Amino acid sequence: MTSSNSADSLSLPTYDDVIAASQRIEGIAHRTPVLTSRTADERTGARLFFKAENLQRGGAFKFRGAYNAIARLPQDAKIRGVVAFSSGNHAQAIAYAGQLQNVPSVIIMPKDAPAMKVAATKGYGGEVVLYDRYTEDREEIGRRLSAERGLTLIPPYDHEDVIVGQGTATKELIEEVGPLDLLLVCVGGGGLLAGSALAARALSPECRIVGVEPEAGNDAQQSFRSGTIVRIPVPVTIADGAQTTYIGQKTFPIIRALASDMVTVTDAMLVDTMRFFAERMKIVVEPTGCLAAAAALHGIVPCEGKRVGIIISGGNVDPKAYAGFLSDAMA
Ligand SMILES: *Cc1c(COP(=O)(O)O)cnc(C)c1O
Repeated sequence: MTSSNSADSLSLPTYDDVIAASQRIEGIAHRTPVLTSRTADERTGARLFFKAENLQRGGAFKFRGAYNAIARLPQDAKIRGVVAFSSGNHAQAIAYAGQLQNVPSVIIMPKDAPAMKVAATKGYGGEVVLYDRYTEDREEIGRRLSAERGLTLIPPYDHEDVIVGQGTATKELIEEVGPLDLLLVCVGGGGLLAGSALAARALSPECRIVGVEPEAGNDAQQSFRSGTIVRIPVPVTIADGAQTTYIGQKTFPIIRALASDMVTVTDAMLVDTMRFFAERMKIVVEPTGCLAAAAALHGIVPCEGKRVGIIISGGNVDPKAYAGFLSDAMA
């Protein structure tokens, strides 16, 4: 660590922090496989390397950041426990990572969250507190619980230890397949992209790093291009993991400094990609998990002749909804 940097850059995490996170999660998070597909390569004229985080513990990359953030807490904070608010993969990841480290977790979820997700979170040992999303403010409930019970709030993306934990997926990918010409990563609040960018810039300096968002919610693209964080209304898209309305204050400076571009794909492209993964690669990928691959398979980002890394971010999709997506795509 040097102390000569400006206050700003001092607070930003570095690739060294990604390395430290990878040591913390080693042997606990899965080192997920890198998949390839001759059909995908023929369709794009590229060499595509898919990092399969749908096969991560808890079904998404979120386990990496959650485990790292909890592991970094001082002992007294671990004893008191952690709190998270989310109806999605972050909540399950916090409950699961907490259970593995004997750290109690409280997860604040909307009353109308899918019963399956509530059950999964409880199954991982999380204490679920339900709230009414129309009349109550989950952040306020989170603050009250932290004050009353001394719980540490772990946000889903805007946190250094979460960001560098997410970066370990790209570290593993490039270590396994070698330098890349292009890396495609989905963007919600930007934790995965920021961490991925830290790893890719260090391990494959020439690599173009491109974020992929749903077309209906291109706040990160607007922010990236304008240089200030742009807020939008909740976007209507099947990519529920990327329904964020603004990018994080901690993720944005990293993305702005290290990423090359930000593109969008349509829901129809996500459905097509989900079907491709099912039919050709025999894997279940949730809509949000298809964002990066859709940009390659639908020619949104030119890939021809390139070595392309693609993060498949997660595979948690309700079986009925999934069946519906597949049958619609076949119509
Ligand atoms: C959380 C999540 C995202 C978005 O990640 P950010 O770090 O918020 O950008 C994408 N895909 C899946 C499956 C997720 O769970």
